[in-house]
Amino acid sequence: MVTTSTKAANAELVLARMEKYDHEEVLFCFDRTTGLRAIIAIHDTTLGPALGGTRMWPYASEAEALQDVLRLSRGMTYKSALAGLDLGGGKAVIIGDARTQKTEAMFRRFGQFVESLNGRYITAEDVGMSTVEMVNIRKETSNVAGLPEEMGGSGDPSPVTAYGVYCGMKAAARTAYGSDDLNGRKVGIQGAGNVGKALVGHLVKEGAVVYLTDIHDDKLAAIKAEYPAITVVGPDSIYDLDMDIYSPCALGATVNDDTLKRLKCSVIAGAANNQLADETVHGKAVMDKGILYAPDFLINAGGIINCAWERKGYNSKAAMNQTAGIYETALRIFKASTELGIPTYLAANQAAEHRVSSMRAAGIRF
Ligand code: NAD
Repeated sequence: MVTTSTKAANAELVLARMEKYDHEEVLFCFDRTTGLRAIIAIHDTTLGPALGGTRMWPYASEAEALQDVLRLSRGMTYKSALAGLDLGGGKAVIIGDARTQKTEAMFRRFGQFVESLNGRYITAEDVGMSTVEMVNIRKETSNVAGLPEEMGGSGDPSPVTAYGVYCGMKAAARTAYGSDDLNGRKVGIQGAGNVGKALVGHLVKEGAVVYLTDIHDDKLAAIKAEYPAITVVGPDSIYDLDMDIYSPCALGATVNDDTLKRLKCSVIAGAANNQLADETVHGKAVMDKGILYAPDFLINAGGIINCAWERKGYNSKAAMNQTAGIYETALRIFKASTELGIPTYLAANQAAEHRVSSMRAAGIRF
């Protein structure tokens, strides 16, 4: 097992980047036999073990993979801290093509690296991974969350994530319009995937006017068959819709210079991670444009809340109840944003940082 930061092309660069956002530990994992090249980043374990998924992606360079894992692991600290969970933030990336390079041996070796961290990092499924890989990782370490129900796990987190997004959207509506009633509100959902589909259900039930887009017609057709009242729109025309709420549930970075010229909504509230192409630039730009942005890591925390319950003895009702708390947290963040005159993402970041630093100051450590 090779576990050395010196595998990085430039150790100084790595440490400088860790220093920038206060990362605790970065583990570079290499295994010649299986071809495994992975990086595990532990951002902060003040509140608890660092939980965050493993992503497999054909990164163009090691530097790009490092940048992604550092950014994502920090985001997990913020997400769990804001959700009130006793979990820290971590993430892992495996450099490779998820369609052609997966083997049982590779993921079992990866599981051994996770195990070597003695519970400081707990992994879960993310982009490019499936249950098959999670099962192989689980053979080597118990530090895995979000497993299928038949394996004693909490199963697909998407319905819980969608419920949290719905609660966050209602809080945003209350702040923007004075009422959280979504009846008659025009909502444009980008992404007819697991979260998008469950979100459509909540919104249709409440009487919202739902527009839905995806790049896959079969997914759209299946949801349209279940909810005939919704309107299907083209992938690019979603940005030009006359809508109250834009709900990105597909990709990151869809709130950018181009789309901000086109979006006519007054609220942005969706599940996708990293919706703001550049947090600092576009977080302020949405505010200047009079759009209330519900920070993604605040309202898409249902999935991690679900995982956290798995560790305590899974109880789906309790997970849903805790997820409903996103409504109150979101109201609090929107209020702080208004009072301080700062973008909502910044108010959310500051609230998360405050929880972590106050626990640290009190000597409370995992
Ligand atoms: P998914 O893969 O099931 O669905 C994503 C959908 O987006 C797919 O149907 C895909 O075809 C569509 N899509 C891709 N590119 C598109 C484009 N350009 N325009 C329109 N549609 C496009 O994923 P999901 O589980 O539904 O998650 C949705 C988003 O929420 C992802 O960004 C994910 O990272 C994030 N998220 C999900 C969870 C969860 O519990 N599933 C938790 C937190 C965050």
